[in-house]
Amino acid sequence: MVFQSAMTALNPVMTIEKQIVDTFRSHRPSMSYKEARERAVDLLKLVRIDQKYLSSYPHELSGGMRQRIVIAIAIALEPSLVIMDEPTTALDVVVQRSILNQIQELQKQRGFAILFISHDFSLVAEFAQRVAIMYAGRVVENADAKTLQLGQEHHPYTEGLLRAIPRLTHEEVEIQGIPGHPPDLLNLPKGCAYHPRCPFAAEACKQVRPALHQLAHALVECHLYDEVKGGNMAWPSRQTLSKSTT
Ligand code: SF4
Repeated sequence: MVFQSAMTALNPVMTIEKQIVDTFRSHRPSMSYKEARERAVDLLKLVRIDQKYLSSYPHELSGGMRQRIVIAIAIALEPSLVIMDEPTTALDVVVQRSILNQIQELQKQRGFAILFISHDFSLVAEFAQRVAIMYAGRVVENADAKTLQLGQEHHPYTEGLLRAIPRLTHEEVEIQGIPGHPPDLLNLPKGCAYHPRCPFAAEACKQVRPALHQLAHALVECHLYDEVKGGNMAWPSRQTLSKSTT
């Protein structure tokens, strides 16, 4: 796993060498210190950090270098899945870009899958192949990233998130946020948890939790699609709802 703050993910009172070597030796007890150190040097090469930094402490390295080391440790044991929790949030955009490129390169070389967690939608749309949008602890839409890039989102929450992204290439429009606040997870609203903020919310949304609907390119948890699945709720079409809210 790669955590969002490399400074807190690394042990501040241990050298980089000790932290990488420990990873190998705690998972592969038969590995000698010498062999583990050689593997540590290889890992640093892989993330383009000179081996002289093996003797450094985390505070002696830049934010980008620390994050590269956390990535090196995460892939040390050749996992098939790496979970990355906002791996570039604390970094400036230039370093962020270079780290993302490097992650993609490593993924190609080593063939692991990545579960990338982020609040930065534009980054996700560019980086991911498939996107799962979560609201109040549930996946409300699961779609191909290309579908979302093409503006073919389905869930009203996804729509709200995409509307809030500033565009550089489109004509100037006012950015609209999503009104209200996320719910208290210990006291979720009845029915659809998004209903207090949803412009399409109808009476049934306040009572019944929506089912997950399989559409052509996405899975969506929303009553608007009940009619698509032949559900028994007499639901107005999305277009009608859109018109009535604009
Ligand atoms: S189920 Fe209703 S409230 Fe929830 S997202 Fe769909 S339309 Fe909005």
